Amino acid sequence: MLRMRNFASAHVPGTISNHMTFADLGLSEDLLRAVSEAGYTEPTDIQREAIPPVLMMKDIIGIAQTGTGKTASFVLPMIDIMASGRRRALMPRSLILAPTRELAAQVAENFEKYGKNHDLKLALLIGGVQMGDQVKALNEGVDVLIATPGRLMDLFERGKILLNGCELLVIDEADRMLDMGFIPDIEFICSKLPETRQTMLFSATMPPPIEKLTKKFLNNPKRIEVSRAATTNKDITAFKIPVKSRQKRETLRWLLNHDQVETAIVFANRKTTVRELNKSLQRHGFRSGEIHGDMDQSNRLKELDRFKKGEINILVASDVAARGLDVKGVSHVFNFDTPWHPDDYVHRIGRTGRAGAKGRAFTFVAEEDAEAIANVEKLTGAKVPVFGKKDVRVDLVENTPKPEETAQPEEHPQRSRKKREDDDVAPRTKPERAPKAKREPRRSRNEDEAPVAAGEWNGPRPGFLDISAT
Ligand code: ADP
Ligand code: MG
Repeated sequence: MLRMRNFASAHVPGTISNHMTFADLGLSEDLLRAVSEAGYTEPTDIQREAIPPVLMMKDIIGIAQTGTGKTASFVLPMIDIMASGRRRALMPRSLILAPTRELAAQVAENFEKYGKNHDLKLALLIGGVQMGDQVKALNEGVDVLIATPGRLMDLFERGKILLNGCELLVIDEADRMLDMGFIPDIEFICSKLPETRQTMLFSATMPPPIEKLTKKFLNNPKRIEVSRAATTNKDITAFKIPVKSRQKRETLRWLLNHDQVETAIVFANRKTTVRELNKSLQRHGFRSGEIHGDMDQSNRLKELDRFKKGEINILVASDVAARGLDVKGVSHVFNFDTPWHPDDYVHRIGRTGRAGAKGRAFTFVAEEDAEAIANVEKLTGAKVPVFGKKDVRVDLVENTPKPEETAQPEEHPQRSRKKREDDDVAPRTKPERAPKAKREPRRSRNEDEAPVAAGEWNGPRPGFLDISAT
């Protein structure tokens, strides 16, 4: 229904149909060639609805579900807009802001893919890497700057960049960028851009209090909502699993072995949980890695790269990986903890079920997760079904890795906890009633010391198989 309404309000009445092609959207020939070489035959809903008004220089709030092609809905028209005009030293002509360095890098890759037939210069300004090349690129003049706010502010304060020539601004994952952690930086950056600029915000979620804030940054925006904000993608089959805290690890291992998992991201709420869980999975013979904000940037990128290449098939992650990342073939998302911010649920599970692929998402709900899952269900407007016997997939092909012969002793990481420049993991607004950061109960004996061969489950049956109320 909503979609129909938006179609009807599209700016070229009558010409928009479900069978619209990219060529109908007013994009240039050079661009259409790059799009077809990317393998796209038809624009997605958000692309169909956003591209024409973006080309008409309108301000936009674009809401569409995870994995539905929001990136191309601003990158494609930007390429054509930027195709005319001249670069000037220190004065980027357009700016895209993203909350994490990995996402900024991914947007830059998209630009390279679609912009290959155009003479456009990009610069990627992200923290945690040397500034030298970034400064050099700025000196030579760039058409499109893609940045995380921290590094951009840093270079601005050093006088390495001027923002008054920037006529176009995109804020990807806009609600995250306008929440408490980032808002001072965003306000500052926007105050340096020309007031007459074109501004576009994109996200799959847009909490009403944050949408109110957008007024400050936008001028008479067109609101494009191809699906209600915070709804989850229908290609994702989601379940919740009631568990005891101490059963979470074994439940996860059971599912990794029995749910035909190809590639999975496992989200946990705390960095310590991410680290410990990854070690535990590795001890059990899984090919896992980790990503979180306490790692240095080269390791973050390396881990993500290993995951993309398939060297590891399980990535244990903090919410630094929840937003925007597009990794092909992620068959599963596990919420080892229910996220405290309900919007994060939508983004976390949205790492699977992308571009029409199917995905499965499991959320573990222990006592301490009860309030969080209630908030998720309130936000998404639907109960997450409880995983039961009928939902179990039996993995007939035993392709799960064998555990190592001997268990590794528990390692106590001696990592230096030096304060790092943390531009892209800005602290979030605390949830209304933040659950106390209870430590997981420590047991004297590490449950992970005795590895179990994949597929030979001798331990207690996972709690969810005994749930009768399903
Ligand atoms: P979102 O930002 O909405 O979460 P992305 O922009 O990351 O989604 O796109 C998700 C995936 O869909 C990417 O792998 C992208 O290459 C692919 N994609 C985008 N547009 C199309 C299209 N028109 N046809 C097919 N695949 C597309
Ligand atoms: Mg995106």
